[in-house]
Amino acid sequence: MTVTDITVIGGGPAGLYAAFYSGVRQMSVRLIEAQEELGGKVRLYPEKMIWDVGGVPPARGSEFRKNLIQQGLTFDPEVHTGTTVTDIKRQENGQFEIITHDGRSFASKTVIIAAGSGIINPQRLTIDGAERFEISNLHYTVQSLETFRGKNVLISGGGNAAIDWANELDDIAGRVILSCRSEVMKGHESEVNKVMCSNVDCQFRTSIHRLIASEDGSRIAQVELLCGEDEYRTVDVDHVIVNHGYERELTFLNDSTIALEQTGHQRIAADADGRTSIDGLYAAGDVVDYSGKLNLLAGAFQDAANAVNAAKQFVDPEAGAKGMVSSHNEVFKKRNEEMKKQEAASK
Ligand SMILES: Cc1cc2nc3c(=O)[nH]c(=O)nc-3n(C[C@H](O)[C@H](O)[C@H](O)COP(=O)(O)OP(=O)(O)OC[C@H]3O[C@@H](n4cnc5c(N)ncnc54)[C@H](O)[C@@H]3O)c2cc1C
Repeated sequence: MTVTDITVIGGGPAGLYAAFYSGVRQMSVRLIEAQEELGGKVRLYPEKMIWDVGGVPPARGSEFRKNLIQQGLTFDPEVHTGTTVTDIKRQENGQFEIITHDGRSFASKTVIIAAGSGIINPQRLTIDGAERFEISNLHYTVQSLETFRGKNVLISGGGNAAIDWANELDDIAGRVILSCRSEVMKGHESEVNKVMCSNVDCQFRTSIHRLIASEDGSRIAQVELLCGEDEYRTVDVDHVIVNHGYERELTFLNDSTIALEQTGHQRIAADADGRTSIDGLYAAGDVVDYSGKLNLLAGAFQDAANAVNAAKQFVDPEAGAKGMVSSHNEVFKKRNEEMKKQEAASK
């Protein structure tokens, strides 16, 4: 069994940056991610524009995620996707043993937990057979706004995501119906006001009752809405977007053999360098809690670098507390020369 210097649990922004920064600090690293794809929560907002990361031009979530992954894989970490961590143990020799859902076990000198808000999946419709439309016109995330151009779109939900998509699609779709179960929407005030003044047809006290398939059964052709207590209305649709929130699963924090100190609900207590109540085990990103913690991408990157630096000193107490800036770091020397050659060749 290969023993890595660091095992990072979670391949979101914090985990990917930790994998990159482990390479900067010349440590071997393994990255374990429960979902089939890397990128963490950024997977959930591929079409949203991200403006608030220093020095990075505004970018769609999909573009941002692509760059994050590219950077995270710079030093060829050992990556296991579709792999859920279920337990962390400490062996007698002081190393950690990380157990995954499929019974595998990985050894590591240190661990960085970057599990964010857990394994997140959209709350799906509880209507029998609804899943068969997920390959055609039932959506839980918006991958591309263009899909909806000129189409009849029904959005189900009354929170921020549903309201945001209704506002975004107002000028793009042919018709947007927003079906909201309660009498009020629970979004940001300005966005609620915007949707109420738009062309979006807001139908309060309604919910999806039945999906009516097209003749060949491949698509949803109509949606039957339950209105109030016992009235039904049928609407023609080209697409249905469901934003009913997310399910999250972060049970290994409580179930692990190692008892980690937590604050509140499934947040790991740590200092600003990511040091937890267990020596050699660090936390970074949205999963960590300390005074001044910033639950943003920028905060995740700082946490990751700090956690890697702390792990470096755990593995090698003689090592410097901080890494060299990249412009002075030997690990980039060869790559910088390659890039300079490419630039010169393209002139
Ligand atoms: C809709 C939305 C819009 C946002 N917009 C912005 C924005 O514009 N700007 C900004 O700065 N921030 C934004 N954020 C916040 C930002 O996405 C988060 O701060 C960031 O993703 C946190 O990164 P993370 O790596 O800590 O956690 P996550 O992104 O949650 O990643 C954690 C990863 O760990 C994995 N994981 C969890 N448990 C396990 C396990 N047991 N085994 C293996 N893997 C596991 C998960 O599957 C996930 O991939 C937004 C968030 C949302 C939801």
